[in-house]
Amino acid sequence: MAVSKEAEKAARYRKRMQRKKEVVDAAIAHADQKKGLLLVLTGNGKGKSSSAFGMVARALGHNMCVGVAQFIKGRSDTGEEAFFRRQKNVVWYVLGEGFTWDTQNLERDREAARQGWQVVRKMLHDPEINLVVIDELTFPLNYGWLDMDTVLTDLRSRPLMQHVVITGRAAPEALCEAADTVTEMHDVKHAFRAGIMAQKGIDL
Ligand code: ATP
Ligand code: MG
Repeated sequence: MAVSKEAEKAARYRKRMQRKKEVVDAAIAHADQKKGLLLVLTGNGKGKSSSAFGMVARALGHNMCVGVAQFIKGRSDTGEEAFFRRQKNVVWYVLGEGFTWDTQNLERDREAARQGWQVVRKMLHDPEINLVVIDELTFPLNYGWLDMDTVLTDLRSRPLMQHVVITGRAAPEALCEAADTVTEMHDVKHAFRAGIMAQKGIDL
């Protein structure tokens, strides 16, 4: 008896899905470790900080405690800061407000970065904090204001189950090597180049 085309198609589909399930199940069975992760979100495309803050929301949804440290050049009032400061289980630090383009004083910038890192280091020693976000860390690193070895040593000696997310363009290779997950945002197109200013809710 001839099998209808539809039935043949359904059987092929079932077979394909069965194979897929076997592959996925094997991959899940293989990924059986648990540990605090180090994630690096880098690249020139948009989405690094907003992805990090997406993970903050996820963590808070699980009643986890989160610490955020932002190394920023010019202070801007972002929606995420306003929102997350209203939540419990979050501590939020804006660091390096002493960074200055005006005086071009290297020692001063170094000192501001070092003081900022002391704040981060405290969080990296606090097992009560489940997720630490270090936003724009690559910026003081790439200017040489922070010592890479110091940063790596502190990251490595953090509590075993603590997650850390680091954002910023041009992440140094040593940082990517130390990370468990590295994502590079690729800039295909950005509205700013078409003359559109930063928009609330999207860019800040
Ligand atoms: P976001 O905070 O939106 O996730 P980001 O963290 O990936 O952005 P940053 O380098 O921190 O990017 O820059 C922050 C600001 O610059 C945001 O307002 C963002 O929209 C904008 N921006 C990001 N990438 C680009 C780009 N390729 N061209 C122009 N502006 C950008
Ligand atoms: Mg950012």
